Amino acid sequence: MPTFNKTKVVATVGPACWDEETLAFLIREGVDVFRLNFSHGTAAEHETSLVNIRAAAASCRAIVAVMGDLCGPKIRVGHVEGDRFDIAEGDSLRIMPGEFLCTPERICTSYDALCDDVRVGQRVLIDDGHVHLRAIAKEEAALVCRCETGGAIGTRKGVNLPDTQLSLPSLTDKDREDLVWAVEHELDYLALSFVRSAEDLIELRRALKARSSDMQVVSKIERPEAIERLDEIIELSDAVMVARGDLGVEMEVSRVPLIQKDITHRCARVGKPVIIATQMLQTMVESPVPTRAEVSDVANAILDGADAVMLSAETSVGLHPIEALRVIRGIANETEAFLAASPETSVPRISSTAMQVTSAIAHGASIIGRELQLRLIAVWTETGATVRLLSKRRPPQRIAGLTGSDRVCRRMCLYYGVEPIRMERNEDYRQMVSEVSRALQNRDFAAPGDRIAVLAGTHLRQPGATNALLIHLIAAPDEATGSTTG
Ligand code: PGA
Ligand code: MN
Repeated sequence: MPTFNKTKVVATVGPACWDEETLAFLIREGVDVFRLNFSHGTAAEHETSLVNIRAAAASCRAIVAVMGDLCGPKIRVGHVEGDRFDIAEGDSLRIMPGEFLCTPERICTSYDALCDDVRVGQRVLIDDGHVHLRAIAKEEAALVCRCETGGAIGTRKGVNLPDTQLSLPSLTDKDREDLVWAVEHELDYLALSFVRSAEDLIELRRALKARSSDMQVVSKIERPEAIERLDEIIELSDAVMVARGDLGVEMEVSRVPLIQKDITHRCARVGKPVIIATQMLQTMVESPVPTRAEVSDVANAILDGADAVMLSAETSVGLHPIEALRVIRGIANETEAFLAASPETSVPRISSTAMQVTSAIAHGASIIGRELQLRLIAVWTETGATVRLLSKRRPPQRIAGLTGSDRVCRRMCLYYGVEPIRMERNEDYRQMVSEVSRALQNRDFAAPGDRIAVLAGTHLRQPGATNALLIHLIAAPDEATGSTTG
């Protein structure tokens, strides 16, 4: 059987990989989703990257999804005179709204209401938390800060305000422009940075609906407020990203591992895919080999139930994008084999009332799959929901997600253990099963003598209506089809 990867890999696109040849290489080595990060790069660069991704996918005959990543309310320092300056403990610095050349005396930020929102005593962290400032006074148009941990402040470095309630909207003007671009270019997923509450997602969904887009929404968890409201955020998301980069600045970094596990478990309970992101193989940005700690981190994320792992700088600007992908794939393969051989005890119950029948069928299929040692479970899906729920049961065998929609095929690129297959469904059950079994054999997913399950709804084209489970023995080519309904 060809190698099959259950854990999905999201790779961030950037100058290190955005040519068609490297993208094709990455696809062949197992990237499932490419991320276009709107925090960096120009519209023209994203446009070119997207064209290259689609050309590479076509030349590899592969199904890959594209995720746009909106900056959200990310605050940045303006342009710095000489590009950077050093600040030492005890120095004072004024932060002001507006746009001017920043100097060691005063800097501007992209956040106009900063002086109003930040209270005296609160922290202002710059450049991924490398520089710590604390607000000590307010002047008419400036926030006066004292430096508590020194370092360099450079052009467009990020600013984190972990103690402050931001009055910034969740979608900035730039985000709205990027959203329009993403809709026009039919991206599959749209991630929102710094999600704070369900309202942020309602706003995003409203903006998508206004453009009749069914793009899937990914919430990036990286703000302390989001940690307080995880369940409502997950409920309104199609997928969730544990954005450990900013999360580790906004929260005590020592809390990040348990927050990651908590989010992973909550997503498992409600059947939503979860992506673990940032610094997965950070040393590979420069070095051809990862640290042992990084390897362990990736394996543990998968053992805990991550559906996807993400590469950021490793593929976007790193020196070894392809090696990084091979390393993450290797770790995933080892870990998946272990998981598939483990008993079912750790599988969480999916507590979704809206999808009760589907969820029960998915649960049943995972039990039957183990008991009958099925080769594969094939699932007809209209929206991907049934496949998503079955994927979360972590059956040991591969899942084929069958759909007539290219868009739903790409959506399934984020689901653990799922191989999307685009095909039309025959309304006659016997013929449908034999067509599915032929499609599986053509792809070497199954062979004569294998037993498979096919999940389907008896009402065609009705989402969430999966109510039938068929067990089918794939016959040798010259035998009659041996289908039995269960
Ligand atoms: P970013 O998000 O790379 O867009 O900042 C991920 C993170 O913060 O971890
Ligand atoms: Mn972030």
